[in-house]
Amino acid sequence: MSEIGARIAEFFAWLSTIVPAFVTPDWAALIGLLPLFVAPLVLLWLLYTGGIWTLVGITKRGAQLKVGAPLPTPAPLGADGRPLFPAGRPYATSEAAIYPNGSTRSLRGEPLLIACPSCLAVRVAERSTCDACGLEVRARTLIAVERPAGPPPGGAARA
Ligand SMILES: [Zn+2]
Repeated sequence: MSEIGARIAEFFAWLSTIVPAFVTPDWAALIGLLPLFVAPLVLLWLLYTGGIWTLVGITKRGAQLKVGAPLPTPAPLGADGRPLFPAGRPYATSEAAIYPNGSTRSLRGEPLLIACPSCLAVRVAERSTCDACGLEVRARTLIAVERPAGPPPGGAARA
């Protein structure tokens, strides 16, 4: 037999040891290796979803509605030049301003005062019940929503 024939026989002998590994694999060993195949897939999925949510968090648009702060109105002045505060409306004496119903703090953060509509006793606006007559004033303010000043930037460029 020639050298080439010996090489060919050697190749087929090697092939006969390799082929059974694919034709009849050792299933128990392969099942044991399953976590090695599943773990990278799970890791890829986690990286993909984490990346997507990070992208959403970075590029998401802000809130479309803006809640407007209730603005006080200046109190009308009396004949003596002092401000007049109507009963049942929160007011700030330092600013001489009347605040919307339900307000308890001024724009500076100071507590507002309110005169009882029944007995005109003055109390802090945070307290809903009058100490003198027991009248309870429940004021609910509507939430003022401001319109945006204009369309979002880049709107015309996108269209
Ligand atoms: Zn009262």
